[in-house]
Amino acid sequence: MMLNLREYHRPTDLEEAVRLLRRRETRTVPLAGGTTLVPSRRRDVEAVVDLADLGLAYIRSEGDRLRIGATTTLQQLAEAPLLSDPPAGQTFLRLLAETAHATAPSTLRTAATVGGILAAPQASTPLIVALLALDAHLTLWAPQPRQTSLESFLAYRERLLADGALITEVSLPLPRPDDPPARAAWAWVGRTPHDQPIVCAAAWLVRAGDTVQAIRLALGGVADHPIRLPALERELQGAPLDAATLTLDIPNPPSDFLGSAEYRQAMALQLARRALAQAWGR
Ligand SMILES: Cc1cc2nc3c(=O)[nH]c(=O)nc-3n(C[C@H](O)[C@H](O)[C@H](O)COP(=O)(O)OP(=O)(O)OC[C@H]3O[C@@H](n4cnc5c(N)ncnc54)[C@H](O)[C@@H]3O)c2cc1C
Repeated sequence: MMLNLREYHRPTDLEEAVRLLRRRETRTVPLAGGTTLVPSRRRDVEAVVDLADLGLAYIRSEGDRLRIGATTTLQQLAEAPLLSDPPAGQTFLRLLAETAHATAPSTLRTAATVGGILAAPQASTPLIVALLALDAHLTLWAPQPRQTSLESFLAYRERLLADGALITEVSLPLPRPDDPPARAAWAWVGRTPHDQPIVCAAAWLVRAGDTVQAIRLALGGVADHPIRLPALERELQGAPLDAATLTLDIPNPPSDFLGSAEYRQAMALQLARRALAQAWGR
């Protein structure tokens, strides 16, 4: 439990939540599912703003974007019919249901939220890797709403979340009805089938006959946060895909008790090949 907590707030509108979070005199942080924050023994937190009544638990398809509210839980993502049984032309959305399920065990999934996962990301969180491959953008209230790509957010997270910024929504592009179908897949390696990944990869692509019309590839577990590989994506675009000949050069992967830098580099290559080959064949 936070050791200096003095105030609990549960606002019902966003402006009030942001106002509370931006107070300089009282160190205030958002409380979402609480799975990380509540058991933490943080001394710096004096007040929390519970996000539960802000109406941010939703998953909806609106025109050309899928919108996910920040307090949507991992379990809601894993079970949402829109994601687990998506309409024709949007089958790549299954990637979100699959990776939300794989991100945490059921006890955590029912509480942990999309916003919490993004605010406190781990290096190989499957859902974040999937969201990167699906070109997700975030809405941050800081203090007015603004958009940022997930890629930029992950690179500058601490700066963007300073001064009481609040993640309110994640959204991603949906294809138009006449667009060719996109496909997506992911692959991972961990110590056991129920453990979190050491390394994982997610791929999204559109085929035009035998060539790649559009492609995105993301990796987890090879840097301090999940990353996309834009240079490789550019190389693969417009050519036939031969995943077996793919090469990857990842600068300075981390090395720890879960896996050495060399192991992570080798796994990243195999998993990227597997995810790409699966997406290509789907
Ligand atoms: C036992 C255990 C196992 C775990 N295993 C995994 C794992 O395998 N993989 C993995 O990826 N993670 C794992 N986690 C981390 C877990 O996913 C985090 O607890 C989750 O990211 C937090 O989500 P939450 O909604 O509970 O956030 P909270 O605990 O409520 O908040 C976490 C942090 O994010 C901030 N925050 C929350 N929502 C927002 C928002 N909308 N805008 C801005 N800031 C916000 C909070 O202020 C706090 O600093 C594990 C955690 C535990 C306790």
